[in-house]
Amino acid sequence: MSEFKLYIDGEFCDAENGASFDSRDPSTGEAWAKMPAATMNDTDRAVKAAWRAFNEGEWPTLTATARGKLIARLGELVVRDAQIMADLETRDTGKIIRETSSTTAYAGEYFRYYAGLADKIEGSTFSADKPTLETYTRREPLGVVAAVVPWNSQLFLTAVKLGPALAAGNTIVVKASEDGPAPILHFARLVHEAGFPRGVINVITGFGPECGAVLTAHQHVSRVAFTGGPETARHVIRNTAENFALTTLELGGKSPVIVFPDADLDSAANGVVAGIFGATGQSCVAGSRLLLHADIYDDFVARLVERAPKIKIGPPLDTATEVGPLATARQKENIEAIIADSVAAGATIATGGGTPKGFETGNYFEPTIILAPSPEIRSVAEECFGPVLSVLKFSDEDEAVRLANGTNYAFASGVFTSNLSRAHRLIRKLRCGIVWVNTYRVVSPIVPFGGNRFTGHGREAGMDTIFDYTRTKSVWINTSDDPIADPFVVR
Ligand code: NAD
Repeated sequence: MSEFKLYIDGEFCDAENGASFDSRDPSTGEAWAKMPAATMNDTDRAVKAAWRAFNEGEWPTLTATARGKLIARLGELVVRDAQIMADLETRDTGKIIRETSSTTAYAGEYFRYYAGLADKIEGSTFSADKPTLETYTRREPLGVVAAVVPWNSQLFLTAVKLGPALAAGNTIVVKASEDGPAPILHFARLVHEAGFPRGVINVITGFGPECGAVLTAHQHVSRVAFTGGPETARHVIRNTAENFALTTLELGGKSPVIVFPDADLDSAANGVVAGIFGATGQSCVAGSRLLLHADIYDDFVARLVERAPKIKIGPPLDTATEVGPLATARQKENIEAIIADSVAAGATIATGGGTPKGFETGNYFEPTIILAPSPEIRSVAEECFGPVLSVLKFSDEDEAVRLANGTNYAFASGVFTSNLSRAHRLIRKLRCGIVWVNTYRVVSPIVPFGGNRFTGHGREAGMDTIFDYTRTKSVWINTSDDPIADPFVVR
């Protein structure tokens, strides 16, 4: 069994009293690695280390340019070890190696981007209405940032938080998910090698109550950057009632993909398949609700139903695999329950719907297409977080918009059409954080990313994010040589 360590205050260590848990290979269900389970005391130690590093020692004295160089170095090391971390992520979460190889290497781009922004954080000067007073603002770091990430795309989700937080001068405790923490625990080695002062970045993993809850409620934490499910997010909000930490939430979604008859249907079919079956459907922006115009409904469904069973299911480490296992057995059980309820409520399974033949061991699930009679069906209304596409029919643009917006979980939307005016109309009307037109599931460090309402608040990536990791300090300087008059002498 492989073994991993926590990284606290610049040192690799076991959890207190050797507390640990087994990580299971999702393709076999077998334990393959022993992970340290951070206790309340370990979590407290990590936050206190980050707090010390924020207030004392080298980090607060570094120039922004020097901080940027350290972040750039970390990005280079991420790229150097991308394949190692991709292998670990695939082993630990079942995400297929084709995807982990590219997303892990691309995580380096987030560090590169924010490294360049570190010395471009500027304040303002003002023409205030007091002639003898000079006024300006400084943008200052917040303090200790808690970065809480789920198991899917952990390194990527860590990079998008750490990049701006470090560039702004904060210190950090990263809490890796208890499901599949291996790539983040390897990442801690790169933090060490990059030469960050001790305590600036701490990496722990463990369970919700002892680790996540203690971290997000900790008195020394000023900012929580959370990615995960909505129930956990509710806990996080309650936890931050203890420390008033600023919080961003990146949660799950039920994103619609709308296809009009004037679209390039071959291209749209590829976009739909990529949107729901890529990452085995375990993506917050999965295009899990397909809205089809009535004129193309039968033809488009037939294309997908022909295509889905041809998707190559296989072991995640095999480069030929297109759909791998789900990350956990509990996820598979959840999907099975949602599908059973949907069928009982009148939905039809057009293809898939169960365990693929020959893949009875592990958490494999077939690419599944469900024809839904109404938006209330569970598979349409709830996030499955797996390769399950629910299809609804619409007859005109207004109905498409109504269906697309008829959820609290529209993280993103896809629109497939060749009509430019229609595309612009929909961009304005769709209530979500991202609209992809004639494409789907593209991200970049340069472009903001995030959802609305129940899919979270705040944005990650993009230049503005850096301000979410700073606060403004207003400065007033008296430029007059005249002494301040005694305030209690009446003139
Ligand atoms: P989860 O909510 O179960 O766990 C997320 C993290 O929160 C884990 O590290 C977990 O240990 C921690 N946690 C658990 N209880 C906690 C508590 N009481 N206080 C603080 N932290 C606690 O999510 P998951 O099942 O690991 O991930 C799947 C979810 O994440 C899906 O809903 C998915 O859509 C969402 N997601 C969103 C994005 C995005 O960018 N919006 C990206 C990936 C995944």
